[in-house]
Amino acid sequence: MASNNELIASRAEAVIPGGLLSPSRRLGSPIAFARADGPYLYDADGTRYTDYHCAFGANVLGHRNPAISRAIARVGESLDLVGAGVLELEVEVAELLVKAIPCADQVAFCSSGSEATYHALRLARAYTGRKQIIKFQGGYHGWHDYVAMNGQSSRQMIDAFDPMSDGILYDAARYTKILPYNDATAVEEYIRANPGEVAAVIIEPIAHNMGAVVAQNQFLRDLRRITSENGVILIFDEVITGFRHALGGYQSIVGITPDLATFGKAATSGYPIGLVAGRRDIMERVGRTGEGAVFMGGTFNGTPSSMAAVKATVQELSKPGVYDRLFDFGSYLRKQIDEIIARHGIRAQTAGFGSVWLVYFFEGEFKEYADLLRNDNELDMRFRRALITGRQIFQPLQLKRLYLSLSHDQTVLDDTLELIDATMADLA
Ligand code: PLP
Repeated sequence: MASNNELIASRAEAVIPGGLLSPSRRLGSPIAFARADGPYLYDADGTRYTDYHCAFGANVLGHRNPAISRAIARVGESLDLVGAGVLELEVEVAELLVKAIPCADQVAFCSSGSEATYHALRLARAYTGRKQIIKFQGGYHGWHDYVAMNGQSSRQMIDAFDPMSDGILYDAARYTKILPYNDATAVEEYIRANPGEVAAVIIEPIAHNMGAVVAQNQFLRDLRRITSENGVILIFDEVITGFRHALGGYQSIVGITPDLATFGKAATSGYPIGLVAGRRDIMERVGRTGEGAVFMGGTFNGTPSSMAAVKATVQELSKPGVYDRLFDFGSYLRKQIDEIIARHGIRAQTAGFGSVWLVYFFEGEFKEYADLLRNDNELDMRFRRALITGRQIFQPLQLKRLYLSLSHDQTVLDDTLELIDATMADLA
């Protein structure tokens, strides 16, 4: 007899393209989730899984954190979507964010990280009157035509236009220049060779979409200098790093302030959100009418449930010791896994930052995308599939980052470490 998981998956196949809401939700075998609680997910047959996927990083507090659930229930007693005028709740949330985020004189809300990067790039183009943008090989900034290219490319495609989807408008994409991460000389040479052409440089300050490559501080300092000297807008895409590593994003950790920054994911710990934060003289274009106005519409912008979730998330993340705990558990996990790797003599190493982690199946230094092409993808996938079979939710895609939430305590991690030990023994 078919399981509930199989029955739901076959119904999904009939009415949802591919049976999933995005190809990156595929787990290998059909799993239909029915319940979420702290670090755990439960499927329609009642099986429990430990979640290291954490909704692509959105879930930072643990599933159904009571403070978030209460805040959403409470706002629902007085408000739903209004879509006109202003709500005091929006103002309160914006005030909290302006206080926390170094680059934020003002913030504007939307509903996803992709919308946020789209709006930030449009703003940069409007402000500078220029067309070109620079993005880095291996970076991901969302699904839209300006940036949906050169994510995980093969070696042959690194220097070529490598779209992530059929149907991307090449006329839009050709204004996006792809350069290597951590290479300030390449950026400076390109900008100088194309004077007055480049509107913005957009960068994940930790490249969590290519494993977990932390930008060299000097590279970020150089980017800040080069962009300032040439009238180019520097955009930190903090959709992953924001709220997860610090309330004020990675910019507050590294002490380098971009002109604009985009956030999403962990800002609500699980409800739809995107936001653009930045310098007043750039952001005020969104508020203008008439000449120079930048249109940033969206029916669901600032929807009260998401605003209540941001406010509650900020309150939870402001509690003493929260980030120490996320960083300590991340370090603990990486250290223990490195010991397991050494014990079994596997050519691998852990990578990550704070509560983001993964295992690279290669040895030696890495600093940019090309280094990651040494990864043994087959071993990486065998590792991931074994962990999923062992009821851990991992993305079954090589080099894809994993996460911890505040609800992953020592017991949860030690259970997973036992499984990782047994898996590495099999792979050795
Ligand atoms: N920017 C970064 C760095 C991301 O990792 C993502 C999503 O993974 C996005 C933007 C797009 O965010 P969303 O999926 O909410 O549209």
